[in-house]
Amino acid sequence: MTERIYWRDAYRTAFDAQVIDACAIDGKPAVVLDRTCFYPTSGGQPYDTGTLNEVRVAEVLEQDERIVHVLAAPLPLGPVSGRLDWPRRFDHMQQHSGQHILSQAWLNLAHAETVSFHLGLEACTIDIALASAPDSLVDAVEDLANRVIWDNLAVSVHEYTPDGLDGIPLRKAPQVSGMVRVVAVGAFDYSACGGTHVRATGEIGSIHIAGIEKRRGQLRVSFVCGGRALHTQREARRNAQASALLLSVHPAGLPAAVAHMLDETHTLQKQNEELSKRLLLRELPIWWQQGAEVAGWRIIVQMLEYPPALLRQAAQELAKRERTFALLASQPPNAQFCFAASPETQANMGALLRQALQPFGGKGGGSASLAQGGGVEDEAVAQVLSQAYQALTNQIN
Ligand SMILES: [Zn+2]
Repeated sequence: MTERIYWRDAYRTAFDAQVIDACAIDGKPAVVLDRTCFYPTSGGQPYDTGTLNEVRVAEVLEQDERIVHVLAAPLPLGPVSGRLDWPRRFDHMQQHSGQHILSQAWLNLAHAETVSFHLGLEACTIDIALASAPDSLVDAVEDLANRVIWDNLAVSVHEYTPDGLDGIPLRKAPQVSGMVRVVAVGAFDYSACGGTHVRATGEIGSIHIAGIEKRRGQLRVSFVCGGRALHTQREARRNAQASALLLSVHPAGLPAAVAHMLDETHTLQKQNEELSKRLLLRELPIWWQQGAEVAGWRIIVQMLEYPPALLRQAAQELAKRERTFALLASQPPNAQFCFAASPETQANMGALLRQALQPFGGKGGGSASLAQGGGVEDEAVAQVLSQAYQALTNQIN
């Protein structure tokens, strides 16, 4: 059993200890100490990093009451000096203490219990038992959590026997038997928790809800505290400034400017489609003239330089003429094919397209007079058209 110094003192960053066991975890050297400041991944909080006698501690995990330090190089049994990477640990403390407050705020204002907690590399999340939350509730929860931070409440830790827990309003029933470690945030929140925490809520700095996502009947709340809140806010400001500069507006005017731009793009797209259509209709007779004449049929093979939306219309327009086949494709990427034939066709366009696409991994099909498909590599588009042309001429000759 390893003595956990971080339970007594979460602010201690250097310590002396004895290596009492050396082992291997997934082929990497690892040691067990008689005492440690290194927190092992548990309860939603990730491990600490740092050094033991200048050897990097790459990961820390818990195995049957023993804390195992996975190392970059082996260490012999005997005395060691350990040192934590404090910025990483303090970040974890800010996020974890912030999580207790945020969970209690959701319980307070929406009777929503926290089902799970995850402290990630970028964002932290809690899943709460609530189907949906209007913006006003999310704001109120965020406000309450920040007020608790500004009140600079003391965060204290006490251990209790299971009987001694009577009268302590724990947010959630403890999952451990034996002594229970309770982290109290003033009189605002009492949680059974083995994590490391700040000594007063002011050290959390601030808490910022970054997003709310519906997941299997619950809500996943992403949040950031302290240094992370500062960095996300800084990044958001830079992004807003860069976007505002591109659009020559004040950052506050961004939503209106983007809405206006989308509106304009939509109108331009419509105009472009309309003009392309007019141009295409003028060009179709020329394509027909240039088409190959085979056994009294006209075969037009073309890769369209028009919006893909016009592909089907072009093929159908051509097939309105007597004894005509149109084998058309839109330009890559994501080229689409449309084959059409006059009603008196002897060949089946659905079968022709399916057979032409199949060797290139594409899919398609349709009726005897109209077929559509796609799904081939960009380089294969011309080959599909030429093979379809060959197959068709063989059939009608
Ligand atoms: Zn906790």
